[in-house]
Amino acid sequence: MIRTRFAPSPTGYLHIGGARTALYAWAYARKHGGQFILRVEDTDQERSSQASVQAILDSMTWLGLDWDEGPIFQMDRLSRYREVADMLIASRNAYWCYATPEELTVMRETQRKSGLKPRYDGRWRPDNAVGQVPPEGVAPVLRFKNPDAGDVSWNDLVKGIITVSNAELDDFVLLRGDGTPTYNFGVVVDDHDMNLTHVIRGDDHVNNTPRQINVYRALNFKLPDFGHVPMILGDDGERLSKRHGAVSVMQYRDDGFLPDAVLNYLARLGWSHGDDEIFTREQFVEWFDLDHVNRSPAKFDGTKLSWTNGEHIKLSDDTFLADLIRANYNKKTINWQNGPELSELIKLLKDRATSLNDLSDSALMYFRDIQISQEDRLQFLTVDKKPILIHFTESLRSVEWERQQIASCIKFSLKEFQLKMPQLAMPLRLLLTGQTQTPAIDAIIELLGRDRALARLDAGLSEL
Ligand code: GLU
Repeated sequence: MIRTRFAPSPTGYLHIGGARTALYAWAYARKHGGQFILRVEDTDQERSSQASVQAILDSMTWLGLDWDEGPIFQMDRLSRYREVADMLIASRNAYWCYATPEELTVMRETQRKSGLKPRYDGRWRPDNAVGQVPPEGVAPVLRFKNPDAGDVSWNDLVKGIITVSNAELDDFVLLRGDGTPTYNFGVVVDDHDMNLTHVIRGDDHVNNTPRQINVYRALNFKLPDFGHVPMILGDDGERLSKRHGAVSVMQYRDDGFLPDAVLNYLARLGWSHGDDEIFTREQFVEWFDLDHVNRSPAKFDGTKLSWTNGEHIKLSDDTFLADLIRANYNKKTINWQNGPELSELIKLLKDRATSLNDLSDSALMYFRDIQISQEDRLQFLTVDKKPILIHFTESLRSVEWERQQIASCIKFSLKEFQLKMPQLAMPLRLLLTGQTQTPAIDAIIELLGRDRALARLDAGLSEL
């Protein structure tokens, strides 16, 4: 069975890049009827926080990236890392290193000065440390004895064959002085113990993979397949960061994005299925494969994300949207009871919205008292419009409340006064909604209902 995982470090909110990595790993498991595991890599105690764990869980839940196992916390597994470390010590693939941080700094500086790449020089390798007495008061770290010769090679599911020479790799730390595992060690033990078949992650980890493969080999653990997904860049080609605007998943929720739209956008960011731009989560799962993940980095485009959101809003069911908007009004304590049926209103408004916040703002004018700006008043609500507005209001009073009939009233008044549509429609828009842009005015009048529409017209006329 295919098993994939997402393994975030809880050192901040879940950002767009992390969410896309999670999405690909999730979709791969779902497509193949496999399982998706959530693991929290919290061994960096200084940078990890409970708030970040919560933000990650909330974001995954909001996006609908459900997991079959977890969250599993690495800090709950310390004894297991120690157990595997002992196996490596017993097989002479790991050794204790007593070099102090100061000593290592001097070592690196000396290497740099003589034009060498800074790397651990193996001074505590058992062969080199014969007769050396461990200094007192130094908590040793456990280092991996990386092979000196040969290459490490794997067929990356996204990038193809990657080969790295062991000469490039030094004896990295497996356990820190406090006994916690480093990322490169914890990840191997966990990916093995959790029976993961595919490790799909960001390509900022490509350099770590050969180190991890060497550990797998030293332990005789079966290797998973690796697939490294390219980074997401900002529009300036730099790695996506806060400076490029909202990058936290939850910010998109707060800004009125639909989770399926964010998923659709992230899915397309660096992966394609022919010319398809808008698709559902189910379609994505059905179509997803790693062969069509781009090898080069993707550029984040906020305008396209908004467009994608608008398309998903158009495709969404009116009652589903109405429920979301109602929840939004409730949160803001806006009274939505006294207004037209929200789902009907949304049907009229949703084609123009690129976010739920847009949609709830544009629906709001049907519930709130009308406010007309002085500028609009001077431009469209001039006193010469009063006769036609009165004429129209009067014929409206007795009409059967139905869009066609309302449209006939409009035509009838226009004909009487020999005016064109905008000359009546603009003042009506303002009097009825306070806005100059609305869906078709006859539809708006129908939706407002007889009492509300007439009350607004009467109130407006009395001020003219
Ligand atoms: N904790 C690592 C990170 O957040 C995960 C790397 C991996 O997926 O192996 O970058």
